[in-house]
Amino acid sequence: MAYLRFEALKKLNERPSVPVSSPGPKVSDFFGENVFNTEQMRASLAPAVFKNVTAAIKNHDKIDATTADAVASAAKLWAMSKGATHFTHWFQPMTGGTAEKHDSFFDAQSGIEKFKGSELVQQEPDASSFPSGGIRSTFEARGYTAWDPTSPMFLYGKTLCIPTVFVSYTGESLDTKSPLLKALKAVDVAATKVCQLFDKDIQHVVASLGPEQEYFVVDEALYMARPDLVMASRTVFGHAPARGQQMEDHYFGSIPARVYDFMKEFEFESWRLGIPVRTRHNEVAPCQFEVAPLFEEVNVANDHNQLMMDVMGRVAEKHNLKVLFHEKPFAGLNGSGKHNNWSLITDNGINLYAPSSSARDNLLFLTFFVTTIKAVHEYCDLLRASIATAANDFRLGANEAPPAIMSVFIGTQMSAVLDELEKKGNVKIEKGDNMYMKLGIDQIPEIILDATDRNRTSPFAFTGNKFEFRAVGASDNCAIPMTVLNLIVAAQLDHFNEAVTKEIDKGTEKRLAIVNVLRKYIKESKSVRFEGDGYSEDWVKEAAKRGMNNIKNMPRAIEAYLTKESVALFEKHGVLSHKELEARNEIRLEAYIKKVQIEARVIGDLAMNHIIPTAIAYQNKLIQNANGLKGLGVDNKAVVQTIKEISGHIDTIKNGTRQMVEERKRINKITDTHKRAFAYCDDVKEKYFDTIRDAVDKLELLVDDEDWPLVKYREMLFLR
Ligand code: ADP
Ligand code: MG
Repeated sequence: MAYLRFEALKKLNERPSVPVSSPGPKVSDFFGENVFNTEQMRASLAPAVFKNVTAAIKNHDKIDATTADAVASAAKLWAMSKGATHFTHWFQPMTGGTAEKHDSFFDAQSGIEKFKGSELVQQEPDASSFPSGGIRSTFEARGYTAWDPTSPMFLYGKTLCIPTVFVSYTGESLDTKSPLLKALKAVDVAATKVCQLFDKDIQHVVASLGPEQEYFVVDEALYMARPDLVMASRTVFGHAPARGQQMEDHYFGSIPARVYDFMKEFEFESWRLGIPVRTRHNEVAPCQFEVAPLFEEVNVANDHNQLMMDVMGRVAEKHNLKVLFHEKPFAGLNGSGKHNNWSLITDNGINLYAPSSSARDNLLFLTFFVTTIKAVHEYCDLLRASIATAANDFRLGANEAPPAIMSVFIGTQMSAVLDELEKKGNVKIEKGDNMYMKLGIDQIPEIILDATDRNRTSPFAFTGNKFEFRAVGASDNCAIPMTVLNLIVAAQLDHFNEAVTKEIDKGTEKRLAIVNVLRKYIKESKSVRFEGDGYSEDWVKEAAKRGMNNIKNMPRAIEAYLTKESVALFEKHGVLSHKELEARNEIRLEAYIKKVQIEARVIGDLAMNHIIPTAIAYQNKLIQNANGLKGLGVDNKAVVQTIKEISGHIDTIKNGTRQMVEERKRINKITDTHKRAFAYCDDVKEKYFDTIRDAVDKLELLVDDEDWPLVKYREMLFLR
């Protein structure tokens, strides 16, 4: 057979090894060499200018024109000394991924290289092709990118990249970074206020993020031989291999040599870009891996994650590999997430989620701990919305992923602490009492979660000194969930602050006022706490009894952005306006519709043009065989049975595909985007995808291996 499948398999055996060499003897020799970082700025800027820049960064202030000119000139010299010829504003439009438009330093008119402060600060990309959900067409046709000085410039290839936000001329955000920056500022302000109840010296609170990135790796030729992977980033058909992940031998097993070389090289490249990648290992499914960096300030960590994904894709090509970031590229196998490890850290270095041996600091810890749980309880639907994507729908709620129910896991130790604090509600505190001791919060031991106490099935888990938002999808931009998480925590901290102030005004002693509010929060947010197996059917029932939402698909989940309360929340903290929220949902729904459309087309095309002809050809062989047997007077019942089975599956596929096409025609006429998205979800995806797939996957088991056109799971997933 001249199928691409067999050519690809042949290539697999002829892969040359790709040599990888380290850019230097030690990582510290080259870490960050391609970043115009604080040290570079300090070295190349006049002290006064340097001070201006760092102060502006810390206080979220604007940078003046003279300072910008000085920075631009220093950055240009630095970049050119490293061979750069161009600069670009690097931004994150709402399509996902990153975008850039390159301009050369060289100015033909003057014959010299130039880079002005104004070019650093602001640019006008040809933005007409980026989605704006109608904002730009309604208000102003142009948009511009503006420098984000809180994330360092870096050299990528021969281009100086400047992290920027992307906004319309009328000021609406058109990207994922600008609302994130606003939410980070909101949480800084709110958390600092609460910290000052304890310690007046605390001036800022910085949110930190360590995103653990899961991904699959497959051979490039095999990838190219799967039109569904190429078109839809996931396999729409494919029978699970005989050996899947039941053996659990892949997890922490040895890394295949080709993948290992790829990892080494993308780590080198990441380090040169100042991305602090740290751990690498195999994941649960065959050919699934994970890379985790050291945590950083959220905005920088997210830029680094976006950049790292790009680096991984480019390096993989050199190794004839393809990286898959899709949340569920292979049915029946573990999906890929991007666990967002998150905490708040004060400017004097206190991690607000780390219990301490000092009783006073523990009250501070408990304040943030309990308030965060309360925030998840209050705003669980928004949190659910923040991780909703078409691809994550295949992962959430499937057996091997956290469900779409937002709950919090805190472990037995912390559960005991909170239960104790709640129980002691009636304890009278007299003057001179050791309040901490009386309430049982004088000592919270360092929390070491052992293997048994680590809940891998929770969407939002406390892991000793940070929360881990595990429900985030592998291909997602962390800015979206991080905007929501930091915003809801900011909002809850504000409520907390108000409630405590009220109590104090009534004459309650400050610490007691704090404890009283915390106790109330513990009681009110109890239903969001869940310590059991999040993957179990029992939890789904239990959650329903608790009145918790279980929103299974993206079009419905993102409606939470547009409730009256959500809009008020986003507007109050200046993160997004009603108009921007609406525009964003419109963009998301349009993207969702397109994704389902593409998948439906790929399914239809593969089914009708590849699978059915193959099945019929094979069936004809069997018919000949059955007739031959009959002529010889040999029993042909088994063969006839197979022929019938094949016919049954062919019918299912044909009918399903035909009806699916009819449904699409009907749905495309629906003008309302919301309704069209719901219809694509319910009447195309839910109704037909699995039925058609099931029949195709059964045929895969019946048809002669030599005749099957698509690369099989076992061939893709067991790289060496
Ligand atoms: P675990 O074994 O719990 O997954 P790791 O130490 O491997 O923990 O950390 C996982 C990720 O969490 C890493 O990216 C790490 O840098 C990050 N991380 C650790 N501490 C914090 C923190 N205080 N805030 C945010 N992220 C953190
Ligand atoms: Mg982890």
